[in-house]
Amino acid sequence: MQGVRYTLSPLTYDYDALQPVISKEIMKLHHDKHHQAYVNGANAALELLEKGRTGVVIVNLKSVMRDLSFNLNGHLLHEIFWKNMRKYQDKNEMPEKLAELLIKNFGSVDAFKKEFVEAGKAVEASGWVMLVKDSEGNLMVTQVQNHNLLGVTGFKPVLVNDVWEHAYYLDYTNDRGAYLEKWWNVVNWDDVMERINT
Ligand code: MN
Repeated sequence: MQGVRYTLSPLTYDYDALQPVISKEIMKLHHDKHHQAYVNGANAALELLEKGRTGVVIVNLKSVMRDLSFNLNGHLLHEIFWKNMRKYQDKNEMPEKLAELLIKNFGSVDAFKKEFVEAGKAVEASGWVMLVKDSEGNLMVTQVQNHNLLGVTGFKPVLVNDVWEHAYYLDYTNDRGAYLEKWWNVVNWDDVMERINT
């Protein structure tokens, strides 16, 4: 019996749609190579678990669980990340309702953006900065280290930004802060609002 396997969703925009914030070169490598590797890694771990169950191989569960957590979270976060973005817009407006929610939770839209950027800059080595929603609809900024550490169980990510070097180094070298600041021009605020609502 073969259990669940995951697949990489195609982008819903062209590789060059996010320029000049994220180059076509980064998008191709990031989506087609890096993300695909996490999908493959998650599926390999699932396959190994299945073989272990039927006694075909002896599985080091501690190691497979670690692989599964890293790769599956990597896959799921990237799936949200691509959909959280849209074609570059000079003046990238958000829905009024979303602005109201951000003001309610952070004091102002600028205060939210500042906290998100600062938290993104402060991620140690590789990871993510996220806007998350709790079960009562409160919004918070959190970090994830790698793809799977420091997360808060049950909190739903509604806006995520990848701050691994592979996400920006070709365009920004070591200036992660510049990447985070420019990224607001490609955020798909309608997608964020939809994730908050569902
Ligand atoms: Mn990535």
